[in-house]
Formats: sequence, structure tokens, C-alpha cells
Amino acid sequence: MDKPTQKRSPLAFLQSVRGLTLALLTVVLLIMLIIVNGSVYTFVFITEQQSWAGRQAEATQRATESIADFLARGRDVFSFINLEVEHEDGEELRELAEEILTLNPAFEEIMLLDSEGQIRADVFQERTVLGNLFTLSQSNWFLSARDGETYISELQFTSEREPYVILSAPLADGGVIGALLRMSSLNDQVAAIKFGATGDSYLAETDGPLLAHSEYQNVLNSTTIAGRPELANALAAPDNRWFGAYISFEGEPVVGSTARVPGTNWIVFSEISQTEAFSNSRTAISLLTGITVVFLVIVMWLSAQLLERFLFKPLDGLRVGTERVEQGNLNYQVPVMRSDEIGRVTDGFNVMVSQLRRRNEELRQARDEALVSTRLAQENSRLKSEFLSTMSHELRTPLNAIEGFTSIMLSGMGIELEPKAQNMVERVSANSKRLLALINDFLDLSRIESGRMELVSQPISPTKLVDKWKSQVGVLAEQKKLGFVVDIDPQIPPEILGDEDALSKIVVNLLSNAFKFTQEGQVSLTLRRQEENWSIEVTDTGIGIPPHAREYIFEEFRQVDGSSKRQFGGTGLGLAIVQKLARLMGGSVTLKSEMGKGSSFTVVLPLQAQVELA
Ligand code: ADP
Repeated sequence: MDKPTQKRSPLAFLQSVRGLTLALLTVVLLIMLIIVNGSVYTFVFITEQQSWAGRQAEATQRATESIADFLARGRDVFSFINLEVEHEDGEELRELAEEILTLNPAFEEIMLLDSEGQIRADVFQERTVLGNLFTLSQSNWFLSARDGETYISELQFTSEREPYVILSAPLADGGVIGALLRMSSLNDQVAAIKFGATGDSYLAETDGPLLAHSEYQNVLNSTTIAGRPELANALAAPDNRWFGAYISFEGEPVVGSTARVPGTNWIVFSEISQTEAFSNSRTAISLLTGITVVFLVIVMWLSAQLLERFLFKPLDGLRVGTERVEQGNLNYQVPVMRSDEIGRVTDGFNVMVSQLRRRNEELRQARDEALVSTRLAQENSRLKSEFLSTMSHELRTPLNAIEGFTSIMLSGMGIELEPKAQNMVERVSANSKRLLALINDFLDLSRIESGRMELVSQPISPTKLVDKWKSQVGVLAEQKKLGFVVDIDPQIPPEILGDEDALSKIVVNLLSNAFKFTQEGQVSLTLRRQEENWSIEVTDTGIGIPPHAREYIFEEFRQVDGSSKRQFGGTGLGLAIVQKLARLMGGSVTLKSEMGKGSSFTVVLPLQAQVELA
């Protein structure tokens, strides 16, 4: 049979054990892969980050120290001049300052002021910057130092855009020393601090501007990191020491560490690109992924092979076996490949199929035997019927002759009988009548059984038929002084189709029995219409039939009282003929009876009306 073409679902493979197992295996292995890779990656990442945190903190520390050193050197110069300031006059101080300037190229200019802000000495490398300031006595560096503070100015630029800061300190005689520190020299120092392949440091003021950077241009361009998260994080951390990952102001993903230069508002940033920082983690994850993918493929392949060999192939064998058996091949045996559970199931399957085959053969044999017996029985029955009918026929001829001659003798025609002889001839006549009735019954039965009884279907008037039956059995009622009631349902059509002889045999048999087994009361005959059927009911008030006998009295030669001393005569063939005829007409006989109260036989027959009722 053609199946309607259905769109195959992409998940259809899950409906096979093979597909489902492989899918499950893949999912489990993938989950394992993700968990293992994830854990290893996280472990390597954390370890790497911790190691970088340490290394960077060290680099930052180095940068901080180097800058602090740089500043300390400047302060040393100040202390040195301070020692001399009370002993030397202006000219000597100027020479001293010049000497210091030559030794410290980081200083662009050194200026000594008295407490009023008047210049005592001003030496410089190429040009004066401090000397060009008009209101020296008002400037922050002078005022702060005169008030006893060591001062570092914010980042400033010369007219040539050279970045610088001013350092100042109080002098012992109440004056002030100021120096202009070129940031380019500090920058060189900061730029020299390198770590790893990409790690470098830079210096920024707490409010943002860059003071030193390996890309000096960043300083020259007045770059500021004000408002950036790394600065905010550093400012929020204790001692401005902070470590974290972020995108640098140059737009590169980096890991950075920060620290405050003591005594200043400067913060050192050490940064290394994340690519370098997490290179181990990346290598680890790539390696791990590669290895696990290869592992996964190998495990999948191996599992598929093993499953195929130990599970799917034997299962396929079983499937093929069931298909063969379904198609009716009971000789097929599934090859048993292994002695495991599937092997045992296969064994069981083979045993079941063998048993099925044996049973089938037994059944076929039994059926053949039954067929032979049936044929034999049919043949026997046919022979029996044939024999009965031939024999009955042969018996009837001489009996009819006996009956004929006795009738003549009894009618007094041609011969005068003595009373004794008359009595004997009467008994001969009665017995030959009985014998004739018996033979007729035999004949009927054998005709029905051999299928030679052909029913005719001709129009009958039920009323006329009932009248005929009445006249046939009326004498019995009179002999035994019994009532005989006839009732015909007006619903019965005036003409029906049927076989008059067969109907008469049924009713006369039933009525004869009713009269025979009833001593007082009445016998009634009722014809009723029952929708598509009609029924003939014969009821008596006789001796009744015990429950155990209600089945078997319909069998041939069976009587309730089968003993030789029985009170009632009869052959036991009447009811058998009734039932067989009723069945032949497509109807049935039922019996209701109560011991001592009477019996009621009902024959139900299909109604074939000659003229359909309106
Ligand atoms: P028989 O020739 O003996 O009447 P039947 O086949 O007609 O043979 O009846 C079989 C037996 O059924 C009878 O012998 C009798 O025992 C019982 N039987 C039949 N009809 C009646 C009846 N109306 N009342 C009581 N017994 C009956």
C-alpha cells in the first residue's frame, strides 16, 4: 500500500535507536568538552592574570621608584645649594647653579630668589623661562616655597611647546630656589621602563594630563586621561594602587597597573596588551580545543563502530528476522552473533519462530485430518440417508399393500370376519399405520438431511391452513376431551409465501405431541405477527418437560422418558423434523415449559407476504 508522501522532519533520525544513541553520545561528549575546556581555560586565565598582576605591580613599582629618584636628585641639588646659600655671595651662587645645570641636563633653568622675590641668580641651558615671568613674587612656586613647602607645579609648556614642571623649595636664608624641570628628560626615563614584549609605562597627573609617555608626542599634544575609567579606578583605590583590564586611551585592550609617586600628584600607569597578557590562556584554549575535537572525533568514531558491531548489527538482524516472519517465512533463523542480552533475545526469537512453525504444521495437519473426516462424515451421512430413503421406500410398498388389504378386510368387503379375527386384523391395521408413520418420518428426516427436501414458495392462506390443521387433529381433542383454541393475529397477512407441506408437518407434529402429553385442560394454536417474522405457537396444559431434557428432545430418537416401560408411544423423530424444517425455512424453534403445568413450542419464521401490507 502506498503511504502518503510526508515531509521528513529533520529530527526523524531521532526515531531510530541508532540516531538517538549517537545524538546522545555527541551531546554528552560536547558537554564534557565544554566543561573540561572551560575549567582549564579559567584556571590558566586566572593563573596568568595573577602572574601578570605581580609582574606589572613590580614594573609600576620600578617606574615609581625611578621617578621618585629623579625628583630626589632635584631635591638633592636644592639641599646642596641650601647648604651654600648662607656662605656664598650672589656671584658664587650663580656659578654653583651653573655647575649644577651642566651636571643635570634635566634642569633647563635654576633661579634663586630672595624672600622678596628679587632674583639673586638665574642660570639656564638655552633660554630663560622663569626669568620671563613678570610677577615672580606672585607666582605659586615662589609663594609656596617661601611658606616653607617643597613645590611641584602642574605641567606647563614653553612657547616652543616644550613641556616642563617647576620645582621649588625654601632656602635657609628665607629665599627660594626654583628649577625648571624638562619633561623630555623624565620622559626618557619613563619610556625606558619596559616589560614583556609590549609592556610600557606612562605618567599622568591625578587630574589627567600626561606627564611622560613612551610616545612623547602624546605629552606634546597635551593628552589627558581625565574621565577615563582606569584613572577613576586608580584614584578610588587606596594609595592609587589598582590592577585591571581595560581599553587604553590609545584604543588597545590592555591589562594595567597603577601607583602614586610619593610626594607628588603623579600616577604611574604600566600597561601590557591583553593579547600578550593572555597569550598562554589563548594558546591553552586553542591547543585544548584542537586536542579535544580530535579526541571527540576519535571517541565518536570508536563508539559508533562498537555500537554498530555489538548493538545495531544484531538489532538489524532481529529486524530482518521479524520482517521475514511477518512475510510468512517461518523457516528463517536470525544468526546469533554474541552470547549477550541481544544474543539471548535472538535465541528466544529463533525458538519462538521454530515453535510457531511446528504449531503451524500441527494445525495444518489437524485441519487436513478434519477435512478428511468431514468429507468422510458427509459421505457417511449421504450414504445413510440414501440407505434410509431406499429402505423406507421399499418398506412402504408392502406396508401399503398390508394396509390396503386390512382396510378391505375391516370394511367387510368380500369377507366376513369373526369377532376374534376382526380384532386381530384391527391390530394389524393399527400397527401397520404406525409403521407407515414411522417410515414416513424416516423418509422426511433423511430427505432433509441429504438436502433433497426442496421447499417450495407458494401463496398460502394462513386461515385456510389453520382450518385444515384443525380438522386433522380435531379428532384427538375430541378423543381426550380437551379444549382446542385457535387464535390468529389480524396483523398476519391474508396470504403469505411458504411451503404448505413443511408448515403442516411442523404444526401437526407439535399439536400431536401437545394432545399426546396432555390429559386435561386445553391445547392452543396461536399465529402472531412479529415485525418481519411470524410465529406459530403451540401451547398445552400437559405434563411439561424437565429442564435437563429441553435441549436433547430436539435430537433424533430422543425422548424425555426413554425407558422401555414408557407410558407414551412415539419414535422421538417428531421434534427433530420440526427443528430441521424450521431451520431450513430460515427460522427457529424455542421451548418454554413448566413441569406439571404445560409446555409451549414457538416456531418463528421470516414473513414473506404475497401482498405487502400497507
Ligand atoms: P415422540 O415421537 O416421542 O413424540 P418427539 O420428537 O416429537 O418424539 O418428542 C420427543 C419427546 O419430547 C417426547 O417423547 C416427549 O418426551 C417430549 N415432548 C414433546 N412434546 C411434548 C409436550 N408437548 N409435552 C411434554 N413432553 C413433550
